[in-house]
Amino acid sequence: MMVQIGIMKNRFFRKKDIFKRFSIRFFRVLGFLILGFMMACGDDSSSTAEKLSEVAVEPDLPIPDFSADSAYAFIEKQLAFGSRVPNTGSHLACAQWLSDKLESYGAKVIRQAAVVKAFDGTRLNMQNIIASYNPEKNRRILLTAHWDSRPFADQDSERQNQPIPGANDGGSGVGVLLEVARQLGQANPQVGVDIILWDAEDYGKTEVPGSYCLGSQYWVVNKHKPNYDAMYGINLDMVGDPDARFTREGHSMEYAANVVEKVWRTARLYGYDQYFSLERTEPIIDDHVYVNRKGGIRMIDIIDKPANQSFFDEWHTHRDDINTISKETLKAVGQTVTAVVYREK
Ligand SMILES: [Zn+2]
Repeated sequence: MMVQIGIMKNRFFRKKDIFKRFSIRFFRVLGFLILGFMMACGDDSSSTAEKLSEVAVEPDLPIPDFSADSAYAFIEKQLAFGSRVPNTGSHLACAQWLSDKLESYGAKVIRQAAVVKAFDGTRLNMQNIIASYNPEKNRRILLTAHWDSRPFADQDSERQNQPIPGANDGGSGVGVLLEVARQLGQANPQVGVDIILWDAEDYGKTEVPGSYCLGSQYWVVNKHKPNYDAMYGINLDMVGDPDARFTREGHSMEYAANVVEKVWRTARLYGYDQYFSLERTEPIIDDHVYVNRKGGIRMIDIIDKPANQSFFDEWHTHRDDINTISKETLKAVGQTVTAVVYREK
């Protein structure tokens, strides 16, 4: 994906130091204590308490326990294929594995194959992988992430024309959604759920408008079901960095502010405020933008992008490997999304 407004990379902001980790834990525990106190007192005088009480209602179904170990293993497995760049054997092999895996978790899977044109004229053989649960239900949630990895390492100082591993940028969102799928296969939610793994998201060039997100751009005008609709959608991108900060991104707020509210409140209920920041940030062109604008479905992006800072340190470099992934971050995102799905009816 790309940012619309130019930003400077600043590594000093993303320092992973021990003090910060300690503070995260400390404030998380403190947050739980305060939350518990407010709920015990029934204090609805502040707007925070009022908002929290909305999600504190007991759900009809138990919320499954999202396994970060499982999500992590799914990322490792994707990396083991090599780069997932369209027109390569490793891309095809990974597509087959993703499709088989989703089917094994009880989903009805459609592989939407197409040829799309990249910014440099290359014809890309892409496929969106679409997995549906409870296809008969009208009330549906759409969960998405891109599964392709970037063919270039343009932010690296070396081997810029070679593909990146794409652990966080690509692998992490898919790893989380595969684990959500595993849970959906075990405990049926009350609503329908569609998981779409977008292809050809990361083959773009910042200077060429519309050159990113080719898989979602294809889908919005060629939906897998005529008149397909969902109540709302959530896209995941770069959800594995240890220092991840998911901010309220501009397009998500513009098109689907109430969905942002719902998801951020759920995260807060679980004590994940450290990751889900209330900071409002500049719009980012990512798959959710096309789903909103042309797909007619309100969709938000959970993406690691603090204001006035770059994406994670290893973004679009050869260092975006398994070392960029934190199980704690995967848990925060995965548990939040799982809870949102199972609370819906
Ligand atoms: Zn990318």
